[in-house]
Amino acid sequence: MQPPRRMLALAVFLWFVAPVVAQEPEPNAIWTALRQPKDDPERVFQLENVKLKREAFEFTFRDGRVEFVQPAAGVVWAGVFTGAGALRMVPPNAIEAHQLQRRTGQPELNLEFDKALLIFTDETYDELSRQGRKFSGGGSFLTLYKERQEKMDRWGLNWEPQVLRSLLSLDRERTRLFHAQVYTSQKKWVMAEVDRSSEEQVSVGQLDEGLEFLDVWNSFPAGATTPSTYSAKGASEEIRVDRYKLDVTVPPNVVITGKARVQFKVMQPGGRVLLFSLVPWLRVSEVLDEDDNKLAFFQPREPKEGEAFFGAYLAVVLPKPLEPDTLRYLRFTYGGKRVVRKVGTGNFFCQSFGWYPTVGYPGAHRYNYDFTLRVPKKYIAVATGTKTGESVEGDYLVTQWKSEEAMPEVGFAFGDYKVTTEKIGEVSLEVYANKSADDTLAQIETFARTERTGTVGLESLQPARLSKTVAAEVGNSLKLMQAFFGPYTYNKLAVSNIPYSYGQGWPSLLYLTSLSFLDSTQRHQLGIRDQVGISDHFRAHETSHQWWGNMVGWKTYHDQWLSEGFAEYSGTIYVLYRRDVKEYLNRLQQLRDNLTVKTRMSGEMVDSMGPIWLGRRVLSSKTIEGGNYYQDLIYGKGAYVLHMLRMMMFDQQAQDPDARFKAMMQDFTQSFHGRAASTADFQGIVEKHMTPVMNMAGNGKMDWFFDQWVYGTGIPRYKLTYQITDAGPGRWKLSGSVVQSEVPENFRMPFGIYATVSGKKGRLGFIQVVGKQTPFDVTLPFRPEKISINDFYDVLARD
Ligand SMILES: [Zn+2]
Repeated sequence: MQPPRRMLALAVFLWFVAPVVAQEPEPNAIWTALRQPKDDPERVFQLENVKLKREAFEFTFRDGRVEFVQPAAGVVWAGVFTGAGALRMVPPNAIEAHQLQRRTGQPELNLEFDKALLIFTDETYDELSRQGRKFSGGGSFLTLYKERQEKMDRWGLNWEPQVLRSLLSLDRERTRLFHAQVYTSQKKWVMAEVDRSSEEQVSVGQLDEGLEFLDVWNSFPAGATTPSTYSAKGASEEIRVDRYKLDVTVPPNVVITGKARVQFKVMQPGGRVLLFSLVPWLRVSEVLDEDDNKLAFFQPREPKEGEAFFGAYLAVVLPKPLEPDTLRYLRFTYGGKRVVRKVGTGNFFCQSFGWYPTVGYPGAHRYNYDFTLRVPKKYIAVATGTKTGESVEGDYLVTQWKSEEAMPEVGFAFGDYKVTTEKIGEVSLEVYANKSADDTLAQIETFARTERTGTVGLESLQPARLSKTVAAEVGNSLKLMQAFFGPYTYNKLAVSNIPYSYGQGWPSLLYLTSLSFLDSTQRHQLGIRDQVGISDHFRAHETSHQWWGNMVGWKTYHDQWLSEGFAEYSGTIYVLYRRDVKEYLNRLQQLRDNLTVKTRMSGEMVDSMGPIWLGRRVLSSKTIEGGNYYQDLIYGKGAYVLHMLRMMMFDQQAQDPDARFKAMMQDFTQSFHGRAASTADFQGIVEKHMTPVMNMAGNGKMDWFFDQWVYGTGIPRYKLTYQITDAGPGRWKLSGSVVQSEVPENFRMPFGIYATVSGKKGRLGFIQVVGKQTPFDVTLPFRPEKISINDFYDVLARD
C-alpha cells in the first residue's frame, strides 16, 4: 500500500528538521525529566558478577537487579541496583591512603553493598544492560532515587545541573559524569564519583547528616600519583569571566534587586549549559543573551530562613553550543533577601559572597568590573575599587565603582558612618565606622550596664569612637606589609566594622569585627582574653589579605595556606613590630601548642590529621567538632612554615636581617601579581632565594622542606647536649649533639645554635640535623655562658 501523500510530505519535512530538533532538545522538558524521573519497566536487568570499572573504582554487581530510568534527551542516565555488590578502590598515594585509613579504617577501600543508585552520562547503561539478562518486574527505582535525591537536595549536593550540562554538551567526553551512591553494611551510604569536568575527577566519601558534614575521604585527578601531579592538568574551564557590570539597589527593607552583565571568554567549545553560582535566596527573574533571547535557567528552590541549604547553582541553557575563542555576555536580573541584613540602627551586614553570578573556584580568578550601588540616601556607601561617581537620585544615594586592576571579588558596605581618612604614602586609608553600636554590641552594652552598676562602666561601644585608632593601626600594618611584601597596588584601603567575630578582606575593602573597634578596657571588661589577637593581630591579618588572596590568589583548596597561613604569619610579624619579641614568641608558641594537642573526638595529635596541602580536607567527621583544627593547621602551621623559612634566611650580620626573606616574598608577590599561585609555584620562588644552609639535599631544591612541612605531617622533638672545654689560651672547644625524635629517620632541618655571651644572645651558626643524632664540634674565641637551640621557635618542634 502506498502511503498517503500527506504522510510522505511530513516524512520529508522531518528529514530536514529532525537533526536540528535533536541538537536542541527543550531544556525545561529535560530538566523535568531529571528532577522528576520515570522508571522504565522495559529496562530492568538481572546482573551476575558484572564488573564496572571507573578510574580507581571497581564495582562488582554479584547478584541482583538493575532498573533504569526513562531517557532524557535520548540518554538513559540513571539506574538503581538492589542485590549483592562490592566497591573497591586503591588510593593513588600515601597521603590519600592515610586519609582513607583515618576515616574508614581501611588502607584500601573494600565495601560490600546491597543497594546502589547510579547517575551517569557515560556508557554505564550500555555496559550493564549488555551483560545483564532482561527481566520483567522492578519497582524499586523511584523509591530509592527519590530518597537519595531528597537527601542530596537538602545539602546542596544536587547532581542534576551536571547531568544537564553533560547531556546537552557536544563534548560529552569532557563533561562525562559517573556518580554512585552505595548502601554498605560497614559505612551506610557512600558516594563514589568520577566527574570529568572537575579538576579532581575521582572522589569518594560520605555525608554525615548528624554533623551536617560532607566527609571527603579521597579526592584526586584521574591518573594522579604524587601531590605535585594534582594540578598538573589544570581545571578544564569552560568559560572564564573577564568583566562584570553590576547594578544593585538596596531599598529600606533591604530586599535587594540586582542586574549583572557577565562577559566571558569561551575556553572550551561545545557546551550549552553554563553553571554559575548564586545564593539560592536570590531569585533570578530573567537571563538574556546578546540577541535578547530569554534563556532557560534553573536554580534550587529557595530555602526558608533557618532551613537547610539547597545548593547555589544557577544553570543557564544557551540556544546554541559555545563556539571556540569567542567573547560572550549574558545579562541577569535577580533579587532577594538575606544578602543584606539590618543589624542595628544604621548598621547593615552585607554578605561577602554569592550575591552576583560567579564561575569557578573562588579566589582563583580575577576580572574587571563596573559596579553601581544604590542605597537609601541617608547612608554612606563604600565598595571595592575606585569610586568614579556619586549622586542622589530620588530617595537613593547612587555611587559608581570601578576595579583599578583585575580583582577577585566585588564587595560593598553601607551605613550611618563616621568617615576618617588618612594618607599612607599614595594610598588613601578610609575608615567607615558606625555611629551606633550594632544589635549584638548594644545587647552587651545593656547587659554590662545592668550587671556592672557601681563598677566601671563599659562606656559606649559605638565603633566610631575608635575610628582614629583603627585608622592608625591599619595604617601601620599597611606600612609594615609594604616593607615586607612589596607595594600595595590599589588606590585606597577602606575599613568598615561588621558585627559578630567576623572578618573579610575584600580587595581594597576590609570588613573587621566590631570587637576590633573597642578599646582595651572595653575588651577586657567583655572578657576577651586574647587582647593582642583581636586587635593588632586580627587587623594585620585582614590587612595582609590584600596581598594574600587579593593581589596574589591561590589556585585550589590545596593552596589556601598561601592565603591564610601567610595572613596569619603577617599578623604575627605585625605583633613583633607593634608589641615585642616576647609577644611574638608567645604567639608562635601558641601556634605550636595548638598542633601538638590531641583532638577531642579522634584522640590523634592535631598535626597528624593531615598535611597543610590537604586544605579543607584535613577535617573529617571525626574532627569537625571539638576545636578549630582547620585554623590550627592551615592558618597556624602555614604561618609556621613561613616563620621557619624566615629563620633559615635570617642574617643577623646584615643591616636588615630580614632582607633575604623580604626579597623572596616580594619576588613572590610580583611574580604572581594578579593571578593565582600554587604550592609548587611558591616552592619555585623559595628555591630561587634559598641560602646554602637551606640546601639540605644538595640539589638546589627545597623538596626536603616542603615534603616534611607542607606535604607531610610530623613534629620533631630535639634535645641538645653540649660541653665547653679549654682549648688553649683564648680558645674554647664546644662539642655536643642534637638528638631528633618523633619523626622518620630522614627528617632533616638546619638548626641555629645560639650562644649567650655576657648576657647577650647571638646565633653561632647552623648545624644540619639529620636522623637520630647529629654531633657537632666547634672552636670558639670566647667562652659562652650558655648554648641553646630553638630560642626563637626557629623550628616547629615539641618541647
Ligand atoms: Zn584570613
